[in-house]
Amino acid sequence: MSGKTLRDKLNGVIRDVPDFPKPGILFKDITPVLQDPALCREVVDTFAEQVGEDRVDAVLGIESRGFIFGMMLANKLNVPFVIVRKAGKLPFRTHRYEYSLEYGSAVMEMHIDAIQPGWNVLVHDDLLATGGTAAAASELIHLQGGKTAGFFFLVELGFLPGRKKLEKYSGKILSLVSF
Ligand code: AMP
Repeated sequence: MSGKTLRDKLNGVIRDVPDFPKPGILFKDITPVLQDPALCREVVDTFAEQVGEDRVDAVLGIESRGFIFGMMLANKLNVPFVIVRKAGKLPFRTHRYEYSLEYGSAVMEMHIDAIQPGWNVLVHDDLLATGGTAAAASELIHLQGGKTAGFFFLVELGFLPGRKKLEKYSGKILSLVSF
C-alpha cells in the first residue's frame, strides 16, 4: 500500500509552468491529473463526499477547466450541470457580470434559463487565485435567484486572498491542495 493521500497524489502530478500565460505567473497545470483515470475518480468521489447531506440542485463549472470535473461531479450527484463562460461565447440570451482584474476588467456570462430561482448551486473551478472569477459566478447565480451552495477547487493559491473574497457567498470553500 502506498499510503499516499489524495493531496500527495495531486501534489505529485500538478505541473508548474513558469511565466505562462505571461511573465511572473507560475501556472498550475492540472492536465496530468486527467491522464490518470483512478485519480480523476478519487477527485470526484472526494468532492461528492464533501457535499454530504447538503442540498445541491446544480453544479456550475467555470470556463474552461472548471467544465472537466464540474460535469463529472454533477453527473455523480445526478443534478444538472451549468456553465459560465467568458463574454460572447454562449449562444442564447445571457446574464452578464463584469468584474475587475489586476489590469482592466472581465465579463462572465450564463444563460438566463440555466438556473431556477431557489436553487442551491455548487461552484467548481480548477483553481482559486484572487477569487474574482468564482465570485462572478456567484453573482450570476444570485442574479437568477439562486444561492451558492459552496465552492470546490482542485488547487488553492493560499498566499492570495481568494478565500476571503468568497466567504460572503458561502462558508463552504474546499480545495484539495493548497500552495
Ligand atoms: P481568480 O479569479 O484570480 O481566482 O483566477 C482564477 C481563474 O484563473 C481560474 O479559472 C484559474 O483556472 C485561472 N488561474 C489563475 N491563476 C492561475 C494559475 N497560477 N495557474 C492556473 N490557473 C490560474
